[in-house]
Amino acid sequence: MSEVRVRFPPSPTGYLHIGGARTAIYNWLFAQKHGGKLILRIEDTDAERSTEESIRGIIEGLEWLGVTWDEGPYFQSAHAAEHVAAAQQLLAAGQAYKCFCTKEELEARRDAAAQAKADYRYNAACRDLSPEEIAARETAGLPYVIRFKVPRGEGGVAFRDEVYGGIERAYRDIEDFVIVRSDGSPLYLLSNVVDDIRDRISHVIRGQDGLSNTPRQILIYRALGATPPVFAHMPLTLDLNKAKISKRSHGEIVAVQFYRDRGFIPWALVNFLVLLGWSSGDDREIFSRAELIEAFSLRGITKANSIFNYRKDDPKFFTDPKAININAHYLRTMPIAELASLVKPFLEKESLWDPAYENGQRSWFLQTLEMSRERFHTLTDFTTLGRAWFADDFAIDETALNKNLLKHPQLKEWLPELAQRFAELPQITPDEAERVAREFAEAHQVKPGIPINAARAVITGQNKGPSMFEVFAHLGKEKVVQRLRDAGKYFPA
Ligand code: GLU
Repeated sequence: MSEVRVRFPPSPTGYLHIGGARTAIYNWLFAQKHGGKLILRIEDTDAERSTEESIRGIIEGLEWLGVTWDEGPYFQSAHAAEHVAAAQQLLAAGQAYKCFCTKEELEARRDAAAQAKADYRYNAACRDLSPEEIAARETAGLPYVIRFKVPRGEGGVAFRDEVYGGIERAYRDIEDFVIVRSDGSPLYLLSNVVDDIRDRISHVIRGQDGLSNTPRQILIYRALGATPPVFAHMPLTLDLNKAKISKRSHGEIVAVQFYRDRGFIPWALVNFLVLLGWSSGDDREIFSRAELIEAFSLRGITKANSIFNYRKDDPKFFTDPKAININAHYLRTMPIAELASLVKPFLEKESLWDPAYENGQRSWFLQTLEMSRERFHTLTDFTTLGRAWFADDFAIDETALNKNLLKHPQLKEWLPELAQRFAELPQITPDEAERVAREFAEAHQVKPGIPINAARAVITGQNKGPSMFEVFAHLGKEKVVQRLRDAGKYFPA
């Protein structure tokens, strides 16, 4: 393969949409795999929407994901003159023409077509104006657009899409489309091609919604004397109702930043997004960076639309459960020191961070993460479900409160008594903790699970968790005794 040059050309909208992120990821993987280059190009021709802030949102999202680019960001708006020059070149070569049809004329023809239930297509009224007719209209100051002259007669544009296979579009089905507006601004269809030619793009990997543009764009390439790139269109990602996932109907879950703020591990999100429309051909779902680059190919992109499995009505899952499960997989298996640096900003944000976690209490901190991560799904779980490790003011889980405490009113007296037994130990080890808890249960003639689960509730705030004997020892005598002594506060007076 000659030099691979791919691009990610988002139109800035203020945040990086997960669908856009997937496009970026596929292009990035393809470039990595073939030793090629990824070009970031901001298609900012819609000046109103293209604020500094919206551009920053995209760049931050890509950086957070770890998707690196080799050139850019380039800005489409900086090349407007080139786009217009290309249109002039097409005009001069007779491959485009000035169209003076007014809005009213076009509308009348469109309405007539609608009434006749016929497909509307521009009737090429201005295609064959004589030079004199054109000059007269220009002298009269009539505004015009520039239209591309689509070849006439039989035949059409045929090309091979790497995902969708052979595609053909008859010339007669393509109208003479506008490439420059009457205000002189170039249209996206043209700008995009001119930029891809200048940036020497070899492969265009983009969403399936771009497929309808491809025949017209190929015509532009040919008319400009350039070889079109290889095209690969990716399937759409739809929700369970087969609707496109959009901010309007799905809210913030469509933005990459949302996953960052909700405690996703960047690579876990990359791994999840890759699987929306690509498969390695075997059943693997978890890939390291190197494995993914090795396994990725355009052939693995599926034609069928992928499903983003999100049920707004299931509060347990704030996004596609598969995304959460993949995140949990990484969170539970990644090297603990790496996890520590990811958890740190979340603790800092909640004022739960202690600098000693990087010095004197480093091993205590790492062990805390090791013990608690077994049940966690996202990094925010360390500050919510895991808050009791880092602070004395934590909320008690409702099930834990009802099932493990209030169901047994005697615990109101028993837990302070258990505190006393722990207080008498020089320090708590897991073995000692187990002995104390069992002796205590025996003395009161209850199953050991009752005081142990009650202790879990008041010490960790949770209903489930790691072995309580480990927890007693790890949290230490002072906190254990304190929390057991204070257990009365959870009971009615
Ligand atoms: N700016 C276009 C978009 O965001 C790019 C389409 C393309 O890849 O050609 O949809």
